[in-house]
Amino acid sequence: MNEHRIKAIIKSISNINNDNFFDEICLSLSRAINADFVFIATINDTKTNATSLAVANKGCLVDNFTYPLKSTPCAEVVSESICTYSCNVQNLYPDDELLVNMKIDGYVGIPLKTSKGQISAILVALFEDAISDVHEVETLFLLFSGLIEKELHKCSYLKAIEFTNNIIENAHEAIVVCDKNQRITYINPSFTRMTGYDQADLQGKTPRTLSSGKQSKAFYQTMWLDLNTKGHWQGEIWNKRKDGHEYLEWLSITAVVDKNNELTHYTAFFTDITEQYIAKEKIKFHDSYDTLTRAANKKSLFTFIDRSIVQYTSLEKSNSPAALLVINIDLFKKFNSLYSHDLGDKVLIYVANRLKELVRDTDIVSRTTGDNFSIFINGLTNKKAAINVVNSINSAFMKPFIIDDINIKITLSIGIAFFKEDAQNAHGLFEKAEQAMFVAKDNGRNSYEFYSQELSDIANMEEAFKLSLESAIENDEFSNVYQPIVSLKNKSVNKFEVLARWKHNGDYISPAEFIPIAEKFGLISKIGNLVLNKACSELKRLNEMGFTDVVFNINRSIYEFSADGDHTSWLDTINSYHLAPKNVCFELTESVLAPENDRCIKLLNTLKIAGCPIALDDFGTGYSSLSYLRRFPIDTLKIDRSFISEMTKVEGDVVLVSAIISMAKALGISVVAEGVELKQEVDILVSLGCDDIQGYYFSKPIAAGSLSQYLVDFKYCE
Ligand code: C2E
Ligand code: CA
Ligand code: CA
Repeated sequence: MNEHRIKAIIKSISNINNDNFFDEICLSLSRAINADFVFIATINDTKTNATSLAVANKGCLVDNFTYPLKSTPCAEVVSESICTYSCNVQNLYPDDELLVNMKIDGYVGIPLKTSKGQISAILVALFEDAISDVHEVETLFLLFSGLIEKELHKCSYLKAIEFTNNIIENAHEAIVVCDKNQRITYINPSFTRMTGYDQADLQGKTPRTLSSGKQSKAFYQTMWLDLNTKGHWQGEIWNKRKDGHEYLEWLSITAVVDKNNELTHYTAFFTDITEQYIAKEKIKFHDSYDTLTRAANKKSLFTFIDRSIVQYTSLEKSNSPAALLVINIDLFKKFNSLYSHDLGDKVLIYVANRLKELVRDTDIVSRTTGDNFSIFINGLTNKKAAINVVNSINSAFMKPFIIDDINIKITLSIGIAFFKEDAQNAHGLFEKAEQAMFVAKDNGRNSYEFYSQELSDIANMEEAFKLSLESAIENDEFSNVYQPIVSLKNKSVNKFEVLARWKHNGDYISPAEFIPIAEKFGLISKIGNLVLNKACSELKRLNEMGFTDVVFNINRSIYEFSADGDHTSWLDTINSYHLAPKNVCFELTESVLAPENDRCIKLLNTLKIAGCPIALDDFGTGYSSLSYLRRFPIDTLKIDRSFISEMTKVEGDVVLVSAIISMAKALGISVVAEGVELKQEVDILVSLGCDDIQGYYFSKPIAAGSLSQYLVDFKYCE
């Protein structure tokens, strides 16, 4: 081997840089051995193709190429090892197009191996003429193969690094690497995208820079314990972006150790899961909150109460009371019917927000159904504190508020039940507070009521009563009695008040008892219609007997007035018996004239136009009675029994009755005194100019069958 040739090759490759090593070595080798072609080619994994890395042809570099190994001498190199043909190689491999096309005669190929000993490339020299010294070529190739192999290792190693780098740089996950002292040494672009921090921002800093302060000390203690003992930790963690916004990440940290098990650094991967978290929270919200008012729904109210109760009991604080308030907006339906559902919704939202302002963070406001809200108040100092809350609620709604330019005033009925006196769980507390709320409603609304066992007993009794009443209606267990109304002026009787009687299991149940229940449970119309039908039938009978000027006063409840119903059925009944409407007077309580019951005026007008007289019952027991009187032309006013019986006891009440009579006269309204039992009362009423008297003094209510006889026999006794 010519020493200067080797030196020349070494010299030529000593200056080459990484980029053109393969080119340079191919050129040098081709020059040294006088080959027409020298090339280095890598072999693919399936060992079917070779692709050149560099090709030197007669002292010049030419384009790289790929060729199939099949039927070529290179295939031998790949499978066996050095392959040398000093001449005639074309004839030996006639299917090797490359050899044929290039008119190759001599061939030397040697395998190039990886560090693991696998053939991954080949070094080949091709000669157009026969090779003069094959041995020399082989020696030279073997001499430089180690160097080429090393370069190939380096290339594949760099490729692998580039590949990994690419993965890291393009990873969707944020990646951060810290040294063993937790100083950040690397962040990938996703990290910058997610957090807003770039490498310069974090140089020499620890991941604490990103801390949101949301996690407890204990949280980090567990994390470090896992990292130190298991070498790995993963979980959710709230961190802060550079712009200060918090985000939730799913973080996975690994402690990396060297072969001596010494910690070298930490790598952490994370993804931003804030959006998923928000989506999950939204689902949770829908499950726990009322979407209209954003107050808790009944389910989460109950969960909250039951959780609070468990805490109470475990904290041995069980002696301090907690209260559940069930709050109903009085006459809420009017907002929907008078204005719109949209306004109704806005009222509900307003109420929810106002209530939320009134309670502490430890309490909860819930919209349980429609116009029902509840507040659970934890840790009251005493029961009176619950009244303070009620008072603050009431004063919050004292003033009207404006929605859509409409002045809105609401009142609330509130029921209160206490833990643990009234109930020991959410369900029980709610049931009892609700019962108390119903009592507050019965008491005329705009009030509050505490639950008590008596209330509960009443509620249970009422429920049973309601069932009997329903079957009483079904079986018509009712009858009418008729109480005469005596005219003081004519000293005669032509009017009777029709009073319902319920014979139940052989006993007469007072209307004072069953009418309010019927009103409460929506059964009153059915009873009213039964009474009216019976009265009309009786009146028709009297008419037929010649008593044509008799007037029956029928009691009808304000609960029978529906907001949108047509009110002609009462008149239809009267007409169906061919009765004159002037002979059927309707007795209604003064609340029908209250402004909030404007819907009643429509019915009053219908009745009045048809010719039915209207009497105002129990006058004086309601409120604002005098001002209401101007709202509708009433025919008769009935002074309540309580005023009459007090007349003989309290001087002042005579003055009151006298004033009512004078005022009625001034308005052209006739007056009936109710519940007159004593001669003394009759005398006073006569002296005051009262028109009519009704009461036991003249007669108790009498049965239908005795009416005609009563009319015949009646004599006014002084
Ligand atoms: P009301 O309309 O004020 O009827 C008068 C009540 O006073 C009747 O009681 C009558 O029997 C009673 N009463 C009459 N004179 C005297 C007296 O001198 N002394 C005493 N202590 N009481 C007297 P009743 O029949 O028990 O009816 C009670 C209430 O039930 C009625 O009061 C009325 O509000 C209601 N009611 C009765 N029948 C009907 C009805 O058919 N429909 C409706 N909606 N309510 C009715
Ligand atoms: Ca009456
Ligand atoms: Ca009355």
